[in-house]
Amino acid sequence: MKELSRRGFLQTAAVAAAAGALKPSTSLGHSEPTGRAQGPLAIASANGLPATQKAIDLMRQGADTLDAAIAGVNIVEEDPNDHSVGYGGLPNEDGVVELDSCVMHGPSAGAGAVAALRNIKTPSRVARTVMQRTDHVLLVGEGALRFARAHGFEETQLLTDEARRIWLKWKESHSDRDDWITPTDATGPNQRSQRLSDFTYTYGTINCCTRNTDGDLSGVTTTSGLRYKIPGRVGDSPIIGAGLFVDNEIGAAGSTGRGEAVIKICGAHTVVEAMRAGMSPQQACLHALKRIADQTKDQRLLRKDGRPNFDVKFYAVSKDGRYGAAAIWSGAKFAINTGDKSRHEDCAFLFERA
Ligand code: ASP
Repeated sequence: MKELSRRGFLQTAAVAAAAGALKPSTSLGHSEPTGRAQGPLAIASANGLPATQKAIDLMRQGADTLDAAIAGVNIVEEDPNDHSVGYGGLPNEDGVVELDSCVMHGPSAGAGAVAALRNIKTPSRVARTVMQRTDHVLLVGEGALRFARAHGFEETQLLTDEARRIWLKWKESHSDRDDWITPTDATGPNQRSQRLSDFTYTYGTINCCTRNTDGDLSGVTTTSGLRYKIPGRVGDSPIIGAGLFVDNEIGAAGSTGRGEAVIKICGAHTVVEAMRAGMSPQQACLHALKRIADQTKDQRLLRKDGRPNFDVKFYAVSKDGRYGAAAIWSGAKFAINTGDKSRHEDCAFLFERA
């Protein structure tokens, strides 16, 4: 990865000057050239290789952009081996899996979401049903589950044996001041302090945004959220404007990583608005990440050098088929399919990890 060149910076600055209020900092991080697709495109978080492939295959057969994106992420939602999404996701602190998802359909400007939904493997489909069959945007908890039942979604125990074992190990080892005995193979008590040190936040999600040859856009984000969260905790993933935002005239964007930070800056909306102001998808992602870095004031979330001790990633596609992704920290990948085979590309980044 190259440091953003002076020429690149001047171009960014010129775009931002034209954008008026959207003023980038003097160091918008490290970037790679933004990619572009003529035909259908699907971009996703790194766990989205099969999802982007599926979405492209379906769009090629004429599927709607949102149906394609949802069918893609369903693969990950239904995969018991992905512990960050859907079935097999890691549970809350009580050992209960609670799922969050939202969808946006560009052509109809539709939106739907569910949060803290239990027992249903595919919250993204329930989110789409909220969009299609209610006058609301977001249903949560018990109400979301009853709504899903009414629409015939099958209920399943989402906590797999493996996820339960992982949760139990956490439960038994996160404190030495309770009655749960630490297993001998645990890394030691008090994982909370480890969790608050650099890069050890344990999140995971899939975001997938799609664009077809007509330039229509859609997106979906789905997750089991922060593992061992306080029951009822909801992150950015089901929040329209935070974990996902689509404006069919401009672009689509989504996020993964520390949801609390994304919510506070209305992350995906910030990315799309930066594209509206003229930034490329990748520069728009970096712009939103810079906002997060600037807005992180709490000492427990900062490293000694004042940089965030967590990561966030944004993924974006513009109406004209440009795409890009960026992370706070170097080393991240994203999944992309521009009509052929899905592949990983490097995310741009704000800060180089030592
Ligand atoms: N953003 C998700 C959340 O905060 C988790 C993640 O993407 O890792 O719930």
